[in-house]
Amino acid sequence: MRGVKARVPNFMGKLNLEDLNQLILAQAKEKGFRVKPVEMNVPEKIALIHSEISEAYEAYRHKKFRGKDNFAEELADAIIRIIHLGGVYGANLEKEILKKMKTNQKINWDWNKMNEKHA
Ligand SMILES: [Mg+2]
Repeated sequence: MRGVKARVPNFMGKLNLEDLNQLILAQAKEKGFRVKPVEMNVPEKIALIHSEISEAYEAYRHKKFRGKDNFAEELADAIIRIIHLGGVYGANLEKEILKKMKTNQKINWDWNKMNEKHA
C-alpha cells in the first residue's frame, strides 16, 4: 500500500467492502493515521467510533439531515472508522457481515423481553 494514493470515486459503483477497505487504509496512511496493529491504540479507536455514533445521535436529535455534520455523514464517519480498525487487523468484514446476517436470519427475537421498539 506504500505510495498508493487513495483515489476516492464519486460513486461506490461496483466497489465491494474489500475495495472500500483498501481505499480507506490507503487514505488513512496518506493522511497520517496508523495502519499497523502495533501502532494502534485500539481502546481510543473504539472510543472514537462511539464518538461518531454519538454525533449521529445528536444530528438525528436535532433533525440535521442535510449540510455539514448531518446524520448520514456521522454514520459514514463511524463506518469509515470501523472499516479502518478492522482493516488494520486484517478483518474480513464483508465475510463477517454476511455470516452474521445469515445467523440473524435464523433468530426470532422475543420483543416482549426487550426494551426496544420494533415494527
Ligand atoms: Mg463526525
